[in-house]
Parts: sequence; C-alpha cells; structure tokens
Amino acid sequence: MLFDTHVHLNAEQFHEDCEEVINRAREAGVQYMVVVGFDRETIPLAIEIAESHDDIYAAVGWHPVDAIDMEQADLDWLEELSSHPKVVALGEMGLDYHWDKSPADVQKEIFRKQIALAKKVNMPIIIHNREATQDIVDLLKEENAGEVGGIMHCYSGSVEIAKECIDMNFYISLGGPVTFKNAKKPKEVAEAIGMEHLLVETDCPFLAPHPNRGTRNEPAYVKLVAEKVAEIKGLSLEEVGQQTTKNSFKLFRLDK
Ligand SMILES: [Zn+2]
Ligand SMILES: [Zn+2]
Repeated sequence: MLFDTHVHLNAEQFHEDCEEVINRAREAGVQYMVVVGFDRETIPLAIEIAESHDDIYAAVGWHPVDAIDMEQADLDWLEELSSHPKVVALGEMGLDYHWDKSPADVQKEIFRKQIALAKKVNMPIIIHNREATQDIVDLLKEENAGEVGGIMHCYSGSVEIAKECIDMNFYISLGGPVTFKNAKKPKEVAEAIGMEHLLVETDCPFLAPHPNRGTRNEPAYVKLVAEKVAEIKGLSLEEVGQQTTKNSFKLFRLDK
C-alpha cells in the first residue's frame, strides 16, 4: 500500500485521462494521494478531484513563483477552504529563486502570511523549495512553523538540513530524483534519515523516476520511488509502503 503525498492530477497534462491515471495508480497499489492546488485554476480542480474520489485528498496554497499575484481575497479563500473535509494541508508554499517572476521579498511575505494562516487554522504545510534552502529554514524558524509542521516536498538538500527540518516537525518527502543515477544527495538522505521521518511522492506530471525519466510522471510511479528507498535501506517495498503510509496518515491527521 502506498501514499503519494504530492500529485498534480489537476494539471492540464491530466485533463484528458485523469480517471485512467487514477485507475493505474490503484492497480499499482497507490491507494492514497494528495492533489496539490497552488493557484486560482488548480485549487478548485484539486478540491473537485478529492470530492469525487475516496482516499484522494487536497492541499491548497499559493506557489512562490506566483507570489506577486496573490491578493488578500486569495488568502481569505484559502482560509475558507481549510475547513473543507477533504483538505488536509496548506501548500504548496515556500520560496523559488529559480524563476524571477516574483521578487524574493514578495515571496517571503506571501510565505509568511500562509504560515500564519496555517497556525491560525492549525494545519500542516507543504513546502516548495528551489534554490532557496537556507532562506526557507531561517523563515520557518522565525515564523515558528514547527507549531504546525508539515512536509519538505521533493526534498533534495543535505542530510544536515533534513535533520534541522525534522527538529521543526517536518517530514522529508522523497520523489523521482532519488532514483536518478546522478542524484547523490537524495540517496544520502534516504540512507541516513529514519523511516519514521520519510514520505514518498511523485510531484507528477513532473520529475518522473528512472526508467521513465523525461516522460509524463503519474502516481503509479511512486512505486519506483518506494522501491528505491527500500533498496537503499535494505527493507521490503511493503515495509516502506506501510511506514510511509502510516507517517502520511499521522501528518495529515487521517488516523483518527
Ligand atoms: Zn513544488
Ligand atoms: Zn508540486
């Protein structure tokens, strides 16, 4: 049994065949998924997919690349959606210094506002980080984000930073890159970090794991990620599936 903690079935790449993709995931043993919405278009779709499928949940947040577009009304909207029964987290949110659409100071402001909202409504957060690791760690500390905790999604940083994040109540989520031949850090993290702190995800349609690298990613492929983690840790796929699913339930507070 597997839990893909980060999918974008709401992306246009899945508009044609979303149901088939979900069926293939189920056949591969991927029972649970969280569809992540990150702007005005993808959020309603994430909710819609979660509403129409058992065991599929939604997360709602504002992507740092589009921070400059976020208005107070959007933040109010996120607050309203946070009480929806299928919404299990806020995000993705964070910092992305790869693209320059939104200046860093605007990204930080929007990130802080979303952390404050998460604390207000008491929900875990999903962190997107691209080329901004130190600023993210500093900001999470300043804002006391450990109060709610959450996920470092598609984590690609060092073991040391992973441990700092774990101390702040965050889980480390590994995606396709852990399967890439040239990816050293995610493999080191899989090896050094205890199973009780790890999650698996695809971030589909992006970052398809080996041997499907470069093609459209889909939730069924989270099995390839879990297999790699199992290989690195000397565990069975089943053990990795069980523990990461248990972690996901605890984090998203589905284990009542
Ligand atoms: Zn992301
Ligand atoms: Zn994402």
